[in-house]
Amino acid sequence: MSKEYPVVSIVAPMYNEGSNVQYFYERVSAVLQRLHLDYEIICVNDGSKDDTWNRLKQLSLQDTRIKAIDLSRNFGKELAMTAGIDFSRGDIVIPIDADLQDPPELIPDMITKWREGYDVVYATRIKREGETRMKKLTAHLFYRTIRKMTQIDIPADTGDFRLMSRPVVDALKQLKEHHRFMKGLFSWVGFKQTSIPYLRDSRHSGKSSFNFWKLWNFAIEGITSFTFAPLQLFTYFGVTVSLASFLYAIFMVIRTTLYGNPVPGYPSLMVAILFFSGVQLMTLGIIGEYIGRIYNESKRRPLYLTREAVGMEEENQSKDYAQKLIKIK
Ligand code: UDP
Ligand code: MG
Repeated sequence: MSKEYPVVSIVAPMYNEGSNVQYFYERVSAVLQRLHLDYEIICVNDGSKDDTWNRLKQLSLQDTRIKAIDLSRNFGKELAMTAGIDFSRGDIVIPIDADLQDPPELIPDMITKWREGYDVVYATRIKREGETRMKKLTAHLFYRTIRKMTQIDIPADTGDFRLMSRPVVDALKQLKEHHRFMKGLFSWVGFKQTSIPYLRDSRHSGKSSFNFWKLWNFAIEGITSFTFAPLQLFTYFGVTVSLASFLYAIFMVIRTTLYGNPVPGYPSLMVAILFFSGVQLMTLGIIGEYIGRIYNESKRRPLYLTREAVGMEEENQSKDYAQKLIKIK
């Protein structure tokens, strides 16, 4: 353990969290101070439209352990978290939601597990407070589906709130894909993992920026990032249909030669055509989802752009990360 670097790095992505910043800082600091370990709190402003950035800047002036990064626009939670993780220097890194839905009081327990030799300690929700029945149901279905469809073991009911040791973080930093389904990437890297259960609180204030459509896209992201199963599914489906129609054709030939063909069969023809047009369009759509992602990855753009960073030493800022650090004077 190097003297200069903090032991614990907290990473919090923030999008329109102005009303939570102060409370978040106080509650997290209270927990960390009791640990008597060196720490840093890295807050990433993900293109907020409110006063989040100004508040963060203020905080970083008051407390040198607060580091704040301002992304050039809204890049989404996954990339904001990636930015924070890239800038972190601690022996352990803990991403946490700024709305305090992840209780920071769990951090000491996580650290205990880390000292026992685990590299990843994730927090598994056993109950969700203040969330709609619909969200709970869809979240439940999502975790179960993705676990069935992909080969990697993504733990159910686990958010991004987890402790990662430095080797895990360094492994994670090597994954440069744009379509970042963090929960999947966290699992993909492997290492020795364990979990601790907790109750998920409702937001401290403000409202969730995830609506149904966003969550749906998030689910597609998760599935397409980690499995070809949907593409393969249609191969088998096609084979089954072709085989069935081949058998049906033989049956038709035999029946026509034996009994003739008294009915022209327009309705069944229509049904067959419409059904298979539908299947074809759907298949094309699924292939499109993958091709779109190949296209995006092939552009090799930086994952995110930072506009300003405060509370960090120059040498840390100029490190060769995947992104370009643009300082606007
Ligand atoms: N967040 C972000 N960028 C976004 C959306 C959300 O950085 O585009 C952050 C947000 O500030 C919070 C965390 O991601 O710290 C979780 O967001 P939210 O509470 O809206 O999601 P939920 O808890 O409903 O899954
Ligand atoms: Mg939340």
